[in-house]
Amino acid sequence: MKNKKEFRNWLDALALNHPLVIAGPCSAETEEQLLEIAHQLKDSKVSILRAGIWKPRSRPGNFEGVGELGLKWLQTAKKETGLLTTIEVANATHVELALKYDVDILWIGARTTVSPFIVQEIAEAVRGTDKTILVKNPVNPDLALWLGAVERFYEVGINKLGVIHRGFSTYEKTRYRNNPEWQIPIDLHNHFPDLPLILDPSHIAGRRDIIFDLCQTALDLNYDGLMIETHNNPDKAWSDADQQITPLALKEILSDLKVRKTEG
Ligand code: PEP
Ligand code: MN
Repeated sequence: MKNKKEFRNWLDALALNHPLVIAGPCSAETEEQLLEIAHQLKDSKVSILRAGIWKPRSRPGNFEGVGELGLKWLQTAKKETGLLTTIEVANATHVELALKYDVDILWIGARTTVSPFIVQEIAEAVRGTDKTILVKNPVNPDLALWLGAVERFYEVGINKLGVIHRGFSTYEKTRYRNNPEWQIPIDLHNHFPDLPLILDPSHIAGRRDIIFDLCQTALDLNYDGLMIETHNNPDKAWSDADQQITPLALKEILSDLKVRKTEG
């Protein structure tokens, strides 16, 4: 991870710390839940509040997100805590609503990165905006799909771009929910050395007890940021209950991590 200049400028412009820390629930569930989490994350190393508004569930019949209502809650959370906000967008309508409610950063989910048509549709919808876009790796271990999604955003003039490594699905049973395959983000970074690289240990782990180790490995590899699912009552979360941690546990992890000095 050599050239950090662009990312540093981006961080400086947002007046954020290194590493960038994004935290918040897998899903926005209620206004009370989201505000409680946001307030518990305030005055910590967390700069950006995440929350899923539309949830891409693999199988139907599960909670699929609160929709537009959640964007109002995020606005309130931002007003009350000063945290920037980020959500997943999975189609042009999501982008339109995210722009309407002035969400700061949009991320592309793993199930979206696999689809060039939908990535292109989202790229067209953000053309001409100065939004920051974070592109998660595709669910499957396919570097070209990840690179292609990044290129589609560069091509429409988005230059505040970053990538999120959330692991890759496999049919084998492993200790991970999604295999990290550390070589793939390294290969991606070799193509685009200026792209900030963020680790999402929550979706790699699928459990709480290895989140710290994954974060430390990422920082040792000089990743630029972390996105960690954080919930006020993880066991009762409406999605991804097994992997979410409390704001208190997050603060402990953040204070125990050893951050390498970055060059430049
Ligand atoms: C999420 O961040 O909650 C999510 C659905 O992630 P992914 O796209 O990595 O599965
Ligand atoms: Mn999740």
